[in-house]
Amino acid sequence: MSPFFSKKNTAPEEDAWFLPEDARTALLETFKALKDDVLLDVFTREGENDPYNDFLRKFVRDLARLDARIIPRYHTLDSDRARELDITFSPTLCVAADKFHLRYLGAPLGEEGRSFVQAIMLASSGQSLLSATSKQMLAQLDSPRQVRVFVNPGCPYCPGQVFNAFKAAVERPDLVRAECVDSAQHTALADEYNISSVPHTIINDALHLLGLEQEEQFMVELVSLQSAQQLLGDHHDHDHDHEHHHHVPVEQVDVVIVGSGPAGLTAGIYCVRSGLKTVILEKQVVGGAVAITPVVENYPGFANIPGKKLMDIMAEHARGYCDIREGEGVEEIKLGKQVEIHTNRGLYLARAVLLCTGATWKQIGAAGEDAYAGFGVSYCSSCDGYLYRGRTVAVVGGGNSALTDALHLKNLGAEVTIIHRREAFRAQQHLQDSVAKAGIHVLWNKEVLEILGQDGRVTGVRLRDTVTAEETTLALDGVFVAVGVTPNTALAQDLGVLLDEHGFIKVDRGMRTNIPRIYAAGDVTGGVQQIVTAIGEGSVAALSVFEDLAHPYWTQPPR
Ligand code: NAP
Repeated sequence: MSPFFSKKNTAPEEDAWFLPEDARTALLETFKALKDDVLLDVFTREGENDPYNDFLRKFVRDLARLDARIIPRYHTLDSDRARELDITFSPTLCVAADKFHLRYLGAPLGEEGRSFVQAIMLASSGQSLLSATSKQMLAQLDSPRQVRVFVNPGCPYCPGQVFNAFKAAVERPDLVRAECVDSAQHTALADEYNISSVPHTIINDALHLLGLEQEEQFMVELVSLQSAQQLLGDHHDHDHDHEHHHHVPVEQVDVVIVGSGPAGLTAGIYCVRSGLKTVILEKQVVGGAVAITPVVENYPGFANIPGKKLMDIMAEHARGYCDIREGEGVEEIKLGKQVEIHTNRGLYLARAVLLCTGATWKQIGAAGEDAYAGFGVSYCSSCDGYLYRGRTVAVVGGGNSALTDALHLKNLGAEVTIIHRREAFRAQQHLQDSVAKAGIHVLWNKEVLEILGQDGRVTGVRLRDTVTAEETTLALDGVFVAVGVTPNTALAQDLGVLLDEHGFIKVDRGMRTNIPRIYAAGDVTGGVQQIVTAIGEGSVAALSVFEDLAHPYWTQPPR
């Protein structure tokens, strides 16, 4: 019997489930697809990270109780097994150590619970689930790779990058070792590698990659140990057109929805319910900007809900109707007899396209901002906030995002100052009241001239008073930027879709663009950019698509 079970024999506590019932129900469904047994080695040392040790043991125990093919083994750090596998950190989890090198240094908390379940499924099937292109690239690997992905529990992008690393380790168990390191738990390792932003991937202690990457890009970097920008640039220019017209899978659908934020997910539900064969393509992770919003308080029906949780609920609903293909980015859209949608994975032939491409955070434009991005300058408080517990940070901006981020960081235990360029916020009054109540310090009428740093890390900012022109400096460990967004209109512009004077896609009341068969909804169309408006626009767009495909206005003679 495991030390965990043998430690106490207080039956009620031992019998109680650790995972909530809805999670257990979902896992039971997932585990139906398990093939081979999966060994889970759990390593702990009493007195070191006890709350995380406890979490991990309970999590693993529940999984094993849900399915007999999951086999837990519990060890201490001074056991023979720990020596055999060279384990020195408590807690560490090895998934199927008999076949693969898939490890968690730190318990898989929060979002990482997802990658853990995916790791179990990968290890059980022995199939990497990589695309044909990725497999071809990995087949060329001829020397060992050690991949470490540093994560935080609240980061929605992190599990995707961990999954990339794990897929590579399952495809090439002879050469690839993959580890997920929780930077909030393994602070010593996070500090050693100067981790200030997640996901942060380090390959062979040489190549540092910031952010979630598309699978194929990650594999190129893994194999070449070189910068993707350079390599992918060549690759794309070279064989873009040929590649799409020859060996790629082609799928015929009625509607392709680009983007899986609230607008795209709603449109997916409405399109399929109208009888249209629909697919949603998402180049990153489901949920768009809301997925990285720490807390949402103005979505009717939920007084207070983490943005990621809200989007998981919406995505689950949408998945009941149509496929959401994560990690599939649209590279080009061409108009012909049908609309051709070229992605990094294949080609779709559709009757209509709905662009729900959202918007991307803006930079301040201060000196040093690029140099320290990922090293103290962050655009995602949900992802990186954990790294700043007990540290001093500033949030730059005066809108809803800045104030939401400031409150989140304060809640995590950071010392927060808001730096705003005017004397009044534009954020909703409710958020302003919460900021005042939380006692968050505000520097009014200050613009950031420069991000200061030393030894590859942010040390502060240089500010100018917008009224007196006086310059001052402020010592900081991190700077969170929330100064608005720029719409993602590259695909639209390539098609000749008209934009308004602020750069957002111009649409009519039915969310039609100026180009027949091309529609747009959500933040990319501007306006008040609320979740509820994106949802409304998504439904309107879907109904217009249905109406137009049944009665194409573009084939009618002009009136
Ligand atoms: P936003 O509402 O456009 O506000 C941007 C803020 O950053 C403004 O206060 C602006 O200052 C400041 N700013 C802009 N450029 C700057 C620069 N170069 N240097 C310093 N400060 C600069 O953007 P957001 O807060 O990111 O929100 C984006 C959209 O999402 C908005 O429509 C917002 O309502 C929505 N949103 C809603 C919620 C919610 O409802 N709970 C939450 C998050 C976001 P000025 O005020 O001087 O212009």
